[in-house]
Amino acid sequence: MEEKQEKCEIWLQSEAQMMTFADGVASAVKQVSEVHQIHLVGDLGAGKTTFSRGFIQGFGYQGRVKSPTYTLVEPYEVGEMTIFHFDLYRLADPEELEFIGIRDYSEEKSLSLIEWPAKGIGLLPPFDIQITIEFTEQGRSIVVKGGNAAGNRLVRLLQEQ
Ligand code: ADP
Ligand code: MG
Repeated sequence: MEEKQEKCEIWLQSEAQMMTFADGVASAVKQVSEVHQIHLVGDLGAGKTTFSRGFIQGFGYQGRVKSPTYTLVEPYEVGEMTIFHFDLYRLADPEELEFIGIRDYSEEKSLSLIEWPAKGIGLLPPFDIQITIEFTEQGRSIVVKGGNAAGNRLVRLLQEQ
């Protein structure tokens, strides 16, 4: 039987709330453990990089987290895990992903946070969770969607937070 796609909606009024939310997602990912692909959808300035910074630091990384806008990907070693933070905005052709070795990023001990996943369509693995961030004058509206059983479990954890 096909599992229903879990969904969780959250309203965040400030950058500080976004950081707290990202920290909570990082804890939930640690609990679920089979989440490896996180897609971040939203316009420029929505808060994808801010979320990623909160997530990577929430996961335990102590250094600076910069935007991978020009490098396409930045790796972060956190304990046994490597978090790859992608920003595919400048990707001209999904085939370019082959050159940065996208297939090597889907290992057991790694996790990918991907800004602009639509630019890598056809070559990226499917998401475990997708986080959509919408910009409004008053803040950000967030929708978290599970893409499979592990993703759904994570969304249920977030619903309880
Ligand atoms: P993106 O990576 O989606 O282009 P960034 O995270 O780089 O977006 O930029 C988001 C900007 O919006 C930052 O300057 C951040 O300080 C600001 N901001 C204001 N309110 C929020 C919020 N609620 N969540 C995230 N960012 C916010
Ligand atoms: Mg960004």
